[in-house]
Amino acid sequence: MRDAEPHPVRLADYRPPAWLVDTVHLDISLHPTATRVISRLALRRNPKGDAAAPVLLDGDGLTLVRLAVDGTPLAGGAYEASPQALILRHPPSDRFTLEVETLVDPTANTQLMGLYRSRDNYCTQCEPEGFRRITYFPDRSDVLAVYTVRVEASRAEAPVLLSNGNLERSGPIPDTDRHYAIWHDPWPKPSYLFALVGGNLSKVPDHFVTASGRPVDLGIYVEPGKEARATYAMDALKRSMRWDEKVFGREYDLDVFNIVAVSDFNMGAMENKGLNIFNDKYVLASPETATDTDYAGIESVIAHEYFHNWSGNRVTCRDWFQLCLKEGLTVFRDQEFSSDERSRPVKRISDVRTLKAAQFTEDAGPLSHPVRPESYHEINNFYTATVYEKGAEVVRMLKTLLGDEDFRAGMDLYYARHDGDAATIEDFLAAFAEASGRDLSQFALWYSQAGTPRVSAQGQFDPAARTYRLDIRQETPPTPAQPEKKPVVLPLAIGLIGPDGQDLPLTLDDGRNLPRHVIEVTQAEQSFVFTGIDARPVLSLNRGFSAPINLSTNLTDADLVFLAAHDRDPFNRFDALQGLAFRILKAGAASGTLPDAAPLIEAARLLLADPTLDPAFKAQALAIPGENEIAREIGSNVDPDAVFTARRALKRQLATALHGALEEAYAALAAPPPYSPGAAAAGRRALRNLALDYLTSGGAPEAIARAKAQFMAADNMTDRFAALAVLVQHDTPERAEALDDFYRRFVTDPLVIDKWLSLQAQIPEAGTLERVKDLTLLPVFSMANPNRVRALIGAFATANPTQFHRPDGAGHDFLVDVVLGLDAKNPQVAARMLSAFKTFRQLEPLRRASAERALRRVAATPGLSPDVTDIATRSLS
Ligand code: ZN
Repeated sequence: MRDAEPHPVRLADYRPPAWLVDTVHLDISLHPTATRVISRLALRRNPKGDAAAPVLLDGDGLTLVRLAVDGTPLAGGAYEASPQALILRHPPSDRFTLEVETLVDPTANTQLMGLYRSRDNYCTQCEPEGFRRITYFPDRSDVLAVYTVRVEASRAEAPVLLSNGNLERSGPIPDTDRHYAIWHDPWPKPSYLFALVGGNLSKVPDHFVTASGRPVDLGIYVEPGKEARATYAMDALKRSMRWDEKVFGREYDLDVFNIVAVSDFNMGAMENKGLNIFNDKYVLASPETATDTDYAGIESVIAHEYFHNWSGNRVTCRDWFQLCLKEGLTVFRDQEFSSDERSRPVKRISDVRTLKAAQFTEDAGPLSHPVRPESYHEINNFYTATVYEKGAEVVRMLKTLLGDEDFRAGMDLYYARHDGDAATIEDFLAAFAEASGRDLSQFALWYSQAGTPRVSAQGQFDPAARTYRLDIRQETPPTPAQPEKKPVVLPLAIGLIGPDGQDLPLTLDDGRNLPRHVIEVTQAEQSFVFTGIDARPVLSLNRGFSAPINLSTNLTDADLVFLAAHDRDPFNRFDALQGLAFRILKAGAASGTLPDAAPLIEAARLLLADPTLDPAFKAQALAIPGENEIAREIGSNVDPDAVFTARRALKRQLATALHGALEEAYAALAAPPPYSPGAAAAGRRALRNLALDYLTSGGAPEAIARAKAQFMAADNMTDRFAALAVLVQHDTPERAEALDDFYRRFVTDPLVIDKWLSLQAQIPEAGTLERVKDLTLLPVFSMANPNRVRALIGAFATANPTQFHRPDGAGHDFLVDVVLGLDAKNPQVAARMLSAFKTFRQLEPLRRASAERALRRVAATPGLSPDVTDIATRSLS
């Protein structure tokens, strides 16, 4: 294992590579424990680099077998080789060929970085620094080369052999049991986009013709027997390809596009050029095994990885500090795709919920960092909600500020200018500045300044002057290494709603105009005066969550009820209801008794009864905020038990008050078979299952029996799983029966067993920690599989606040034991699990002290990976 780096890598230290690689020829002979890799690199001194620099190739755990320069074997003294590096201090000339032979053991690779095995298949993961675990190479994203890959393997063991680009040739190797394939990728790419797969896989074939007429062979490779479960992913792929042509003018650029589903994968999926490798969770779906949420996840991850072909691959990143250049932009693109394919408002609401749950909490704690960090100890720990989700918000703000046309012109210019390049955030912003003629220098702060801006908006209606004055203040709290903040650009979409529920025309007193009904706040304090206002309007600000901020206003409960009923911006309708709920829950958690919930009940009743609203939207708006969301709103001194109690009390109160309407909704929304994963049917199921959850919240025997009946009769996983999720909340015989039944039905289906593990990990009862420990002993569980670990341990640590933060510290201790046990095998997943502590500072003192002790125990353990060391150190700082 690598040692922890004592010195951070800094953005300011960037230097161009001293050596470039024009072409790479790889010859990889797959073997379970001794895979031979021969790499032939055409090296050339970079005219823009240090003219005296030696050739320095990265390695990670490599064993060198042989080295040759321009065909001549190199003597021992002519180079320095270690597992971490290969150095040629005296290169023969400014342009030469280096041939390197290494041996790697894919079976021993438990980190799932580099070349490894999943089940019996061979696969690779190279982003960000995995290629150096396969061969010595300048493993940095600004070294772009054209790759030709010959791969060979036993025909029995790996009948399918894949790599990037187009297939040139393949066939048996005479007189052996082996065969080979040669793949060539004409597009220069960085090493992190290299991929190779070998195994016994079934191909689900399809075909696509691009807008300009290029035929493309599509393939999704899955375990034999799982073919039928790949049809939805294939459909999503074709829709993504068409959408990128239509919306961004981007076409696919190879003759083949392959996707491989593997069952052991650290992340969601990977955009390797022409050969995406996926966590099978984001490929495989059938009505019986996947929920509506799973289908939506598959659609968005398939789109995300496909969209990387332009945002990431054709234009890549200069260095890993620019990670958001590809990730933030690509998340924005996949969000837009799903919005167009499904319901835009519902997608926005769910994206903002994710943003707040994952990113706002990250930004409020010790792991806060800018969208573009300035330094890192371990880059693997920067695949964060800030880089991905806040990165997407920044792109969205750019679009809001510039308008659709200038935004598209900026994107086109960016692609035209940087196609084939490794670019930076500066390059990206320059394209938009030029296309729109706007100065984006203040806007750039969104990339360099961490923290979620706190914005206060106070409105004042002046009947005599017939004006509405809006005073805005912004402040970004201090974050690690950034004590002082500057004001940022806030594009705030705004409406003033008259008493009749209609938006008023917006005219500013100083003649400033309001393109797209957006005010632009650029200062710490700024006022806007709207004229010609005859009656007190209700303010609807930050519509569509146009800026990722914490907003406080002087809206009353009555205003929120009004907005929930009348705002023509669906996001703010949702947000008004949530705001009412937060007010009640915060007061309830603080005092132990819920305040009057009448305004919320009234607003919820109106919304539920509104026949014009989409059920999917109603389901989002009527869901009570989760325990973590409430904790986030409370912000400090959080007692998870008090949060849980307040939430349960409010849920029961709403259920009682809306009983009739909920019963009606449950009855009316029942869907006749067959199941369709489409957004409309999914929305109906979501609302119906929300009604079931409310109606069962009191634990009445008839309600439990109905949930059990739904569980048994369901013809699809969404309804079965929703019923099970309701049942596990109540300690009844039905719970045990349903859990047993579910296990027996799906015991051979690991992705479904993950749901079963996850639900049990979330039971808010004292016995859950013991239950989780017992579940780790089952044969269906394995610490070696990241999906299992996330489903059980991850759910316990991140989605069960009362039990993970048990006052006796046993939950914290358990997580630390898991992290320390896992670290030697898979440091990336261990570090992710440890980051469950990222919110510990918001806990009340007893639990905070326990979490801190747990983190100190990690930090004091010798021999930790850089990944875990980094998270522990930053969490404690
Ligand atoms: Zn991505």
